Amino acid sequence: MLPGGTIETAPKREVEEHEAMRILSLGAGVQSTALALMSRDGMFDLSVDAAVFADTQWEPKAVYRHLAWLVGELGEALPVYRVSIGDIRADYVRSVERPGERNDSPLTLGRLEARDGRLVDVGQIVLPRARASKRIASMPFHVRNPEGEPAMLRRQCTREYKIEPIRAALRHLTGRKPRQRKGETTVEQWIGISLDEWHRMGSSDTPWITHRYPLVEKRLTRRDCLEWLALRGYPEPTKSSCLGCPFHDNRYWRQVRDHAPDEWADAVDFDVTIRNLSEQGVDCDAFLHRQLVPLDQADLRTKAEQLMDAGQLPLVLEMPELSEVTCDTQHCFT
Ligand code: SF4
Repeated sequence: MLPGGTIETAPKREVEEHEAMRILSLGAGVQSTALALMSRDGMFDLSVDAAVFADTQWEPKAVYRHLAWLVGELGEALPVYRVSIGDIRADYVRSVERPGERNDSPLTLGRLEARDGRLVDVGQIVLPRARASKRIASMPFHVRNPEGEPAMLRRQCTREYKIEPIRAALRHLTGRKPRQRKGETTVEQWIGISLDEWHRMGSSDTPWITHRYPLVEKRLTRRDCLEWLALRGYPEPTKSSCLGCPFHDNRYWRQVRDHAPDEWADAVDFDVTIRNLSEQGVDCDAFLHRQLVPLDQADLRTKAEQLMDAGQLPLVLEMPELSEVTCDTQHCFT
């Protein structure tokens, strides 16, 4: 039984006193999917006790489908919890259309089960959250700075929709009291960053949480993870992140436009909604796409394609998938 709540299924291991619980921060992308399965299969010296998925409720449908598969595959061997403080898209639209309205969405935590390919939150509880606020966590939209140069707005969404909910979930799962400061490290948080992304590693800013990067320790790259999954016949995860994340590159946008027309329409609609953010103190137009044009008017060719169409031979024919992404936290895109 987990302390402090009504979620019934505890992580499988009895945690010794003073021993840290090991909890995976699960984004449901390539690396964290591989890490969850590798841990279950005993590829590391130790295994994680549970995984936590921070849900912004605006992931592409393919991510939720993959997560449902993963939850079913992991079964009782590795319990997966979902924590969420709300729907980032709906919250943002509300802040634009009804500025000043307080956002008091509950912070919820439940254990995920997959039933007929659908995710179900079992034993969901409401966790304490910071006081409801009228301000919306800023997303890193593309704008022009006062000098007219391309810039991005501050990114607060990762902290508000991922880092803090995960921390609240870890606090609950390990039985720490709110605002309890003393005590040993109680959580070893496993993060699915691969060797090719080592620069995204960082130490925890929370005294009772330490970060661990098992893929880097094993010198496994993203490609290694993909091969490991493919060798075992597991499905290839799609990139996990908010559908309308301004960090997406052209390759991603084009994939959405060409293969998920409903989601493309959703992102285009959101892009229109966020154009005028004067109520949020932004005195220029904001855009989802780095070209600072409406999303449905952006040139979605890759840089290599643009060069080739212009009759030039690019030095690099294929850009790595995340080459243009500058989201540098560990909590998005894993
Ligand atoms: S995926 Fe993008 S929009 Fe979503 S929380 Fe992370 S940085 Fe913000």
